[in-house]
Amino acid sequence: MDQIKFLLDENEMPKVWYNIQADLPQPLPPVIHPGTGKPIGPQDLAVLFPMELIKQEVSQERYIDIPEPIQQIYRQYRPSPLMRACRLEQVLGTPAQIYFKYEGVSPVGSHKLNTSLAQAFYNKQEGTKRIATETGAGQWGTALAYACNVFGMECKVYMVKVSYEQKPYRRVMMETYGASVVASPSVDTNAGRQALEQDPGSTGSLGLAISEAVEDAATHQPTTKYSLGSVLNHVLMHQTVIGLETQKQLEKAGVEPDVLIACVGGGSNFGGFALPFIGEKITKKKKTRIVAVEPTAAPSLTQGVYAFDYGDTAHLAPIVKMHTLGASFMPASIHAGGLRYHGMAPLISALYDQGFIEAVAVPQNPVFAAGVEFARAEGIVPAPESSHAIRVALDEALRCKESGEKKVIVFNLSGHGHFDMGGYDAYFHSKLPDYEYPQQAVQEAVAQLPKVDA
Ligand SMILES: *Cc1c(COP(=O)(O)O)cnc(C)c1O
Repeated sequence: MDQIKFLLDENEMPKVWYNIQADLPQPLPPVIHPGTGKPIGPQDLAVLFPMELIKQEVSQERYIDIPEPIQQIYRQYRPSPLMRACRLEQVLGTPAQIYFKYEGVSPVGSHKLNTSLAQAFYNKQEGTKRIATETGAGQWGTALAYACNVFGMECKVYMVKVSYEQKPYRRVMMETYGASVVASPSVDTNAGRQALEQDPGSTGSLGLAISEAVEDAATHQPTTKYSLGSVLNHVLMHQTVIGLETQKQLEKAGVEPDVLIACVGGGSNFGGFALPFIGEKITKKKKTRIVAVEPTAAPSLTQGVYAFDYGDTAHLAPIVKMHTLGASFMPASIHAGGLRYHGMAPLISALYDQGFIEAVAVPQNPVFAAGVEFARAEGIVPAPESSHAIRVALDEALRCKESGEKKVIVFNLSGHGHFDMGGYDAYFHSKLPDYEYPQQAVQEAVAQLPKVDA
């Protein structure tokens, strides 16, 4: 019989995060102040983030110690399992081996808790009383709500209105952890009131919800800080516990990966999973293929431009160099809400630009088909975001079936889909649109990029 689960003991959990900035062939471009157009300094960011996170954002240290209180809470769900998808291999009839790292075992159901706990911890240490944030599908809001509860702070979540209405149980879960949740656009901020004035029926967007949360923090000083669930360097670094564990687990399984796959929205689960492996590509010249999977409705890597752009709609958040569709681009409302972002983590963008990773975009019907096939073989109902990775893993395994290659395919299963049954329902019982690359809208949005000479 084949071994299915590759587990680590609690004391084998990583005690450091990996910071790929130490190994980059060239340093990341500067972060730009949205008001002045000049590189931003730590003091400008101190309104939004605690100083320790600002330091981590620009740190060049290869490893950063995970404080013990964070390790302690990680142990509620870490190390997470690496599983071999034996039944899926059989169903597909592929000679390939398929493994997946499963982050859905976290109490909130996704990888996002890995950074929310760290961010809440450093905020608490520096005296923050309250954290404001945005959430799209609700995964990030849930993760931050629990982390704030753990470290004894208030949490205010601006939830994109379309999700607020479609996923009431995500809101209730956040409230269970003690957070207060409003639909965005809300009347609680200028950015929200302005958006409602322009369009009272607005269903909101991630970019707008970010504006609301940033404004909330900036106008509630010094008690409130802002927290972001993806995109930023420190967020991706906190997530590297995923990849560091995976490396140890693959070693236990006695295999070398040929291809690593994860979905990308802002880039945090992909980064967390892949960055330790990418580090080895840079420093040890390993040849592993590493594939980022995005939706055709928001294809920032495969179709966006690599340029300086705003992180949010109201231009309150810092400007970063990234693969972007333009901050004013509004992605279609696909069911993978966590992948509906106009930009991409600067780190992932740079690594893509330098050829260390590949990217593909997939439409949502084949994504749901892959999610369903996976659920029927392995029992786990995946989040629609994660199913993007599954789609590409399946395609890779099917190619191996044709070629007879015995590749080792490893993907990150970033979360379960227990709150996404509405999406599955729509897939089974109505016709989902397969959005093509929205060329016209992207051209218009890209024409409005800020002019930055850095
Ligand atoms: C938020 C989320 C994503 C997308 O965000 P990344 O920062 O790109 O990881 C993917 N999967 C799940 C389950 C999520 O909750």
